[in-house]
Amino acid sequence: MKPKILLVNPAIYDFAAFDFWLRPYGMLEIAGFLRGKADFELFDYLDRLHPFMADNEKFKSDRWGRGRFFRERIKPPKPFVGIPRYFRRFGLPRKLFAVLLESAQSFDHVFIQTTMTYWYPGIAEVIEDVRKYQPDAKIILGGNYVTICPEHAKTLGADLLVYGTDLRPLWDYIGAEADLNQPALWEIYPELKTVAIKISDGCPFSCTYCSVPKVYGGFAARSLERALAELELMVKLGAENIAFYDDALLYKADEVLIPFLEQVLKRNIKINFHTPNALNARFVTKDLADLMVRAGFKTFYLGFESSSIQWQKQTGSKVFSEELAQSVEYLKLAGADLNDITAYQILGHPSSDIQQLEESMRFVAELGIRGMLADFSPIPGTPDGDACSKWVDLSEPLLHNKTAFTIIRTGFDESNRLKDLQRKLNRQISH
Ligand code: SF4
Repeated sequence: MKPKILLVNPAIYDFAAFDFWLRPYGMLEIAGFLRGKADFELFDYLDRLHPFMADNEKFKSDRWGRGRFFRERIKPPKPFVGIPRYFRRFGLPRKLFAVLLESAQSFDHVFIQTTMTYWYPGIAEVIEDVRKYQPDAKIILGGNYVTICPEHAKTLGADLLVYGTDLRPLWDYIGAEADLNQPALWEIYPELKTVAIKISDGCPFSCTYCSVPKVYGGFAARSLERALAELELMVKLGAENIAFYDDALLYKADEVLIPFLEQVLKRNIKINFHTPNALNARFVTKDLADLMVRAGFKTFYLGFESSSIQWQKQTGSKVFSEELAQSVEYLKLAGADLNDITAYQILGHPSSDIQQLEESMRFVAELGIRGMLADFSPIPGTPDGDACSKWVDLSEPLLHNKTAFTIIRTGFDESNRLKDLQRKLNRQISH
């Protein structure tokens, strides 16, 4: 008999959360590898098309499929006492999950998606409910939190932890043979508008603040055939917006992205592509910018972080200022809307003394594109994350929270001042 598996994407406990094309892609991929070999059910706390919120104007998506989550204000956990921001739970009400667990047949396994290390309270909540209503189900955790904080993850009481990208322990545990050519299990959603895809894994750079080198250990292209099968499946299911989750989407574009986009054009697939995981401006050539715009890219997020040469060199030299300027020029020539080009910059970095953030923000504005300040999250095991142990106790994952850490590092007033300045600069460049 096929095993019965419940897939759960937990609620988010944080100061702020927005559906910036957030999909539990890792978990859906694993389920896809078991397509036809198990019976699946999904509970996605972050599904904004769920009937509970579907008719509420407040949660309507913007034109590119982003939007607000249902949220409730809650008491902050102890490490956040003194952080002057409201703490919240984002996602569907907990009682809806309890109803499912009480009414469904017994599940053999429950897979829980994990992402940010400091979102573990959502995972703990799911484990508590599964233990209460379905005590015989085996709970399996994998993903970033488990890989980055293995010791902490062990304290939550799951039955199996799957570290990194080696899935063999999972296949052995559930006694099923995986088919790694299968696309992610997108058909599990009753309604689908926004999806995610990855056509490569890892990144060739080693930025000192980033967890990607630790999790993947290098860059590798995925099978083009499988990526196209996944794209066709998404289109068939009604997807309108696709976010690339690749960490180095433009690296080796001749071998990876370009053949993929040529097929998009050849098959006459009309869909909007987005790049929430920063693109590396260094790899944007004139031809590539043109192809991306023709194939349907609508939003471009470029990783910039700082215009300070000293800071750029110290953190991994992934991109220099003139490369950002050149990429914007190419995108503009290709017909991209300047309002939809954004450069990320880090706020609250441990070396912010040499970052010249204000100057960097003005440099970005002068290019005519929007800036976005990304609060810094200290990730243990990365050089910059470990350097933050002088400000916070890294063994408590809640203190990796980007809002809390940035306030601790930068100060509440200074962080507000810089965010206000960013809003002002963005208003000035609005086209
Ligand atoms: S280029 Fe991006 S993904 Fe790669 S290591 Fe640097 S920050 Fe991480």
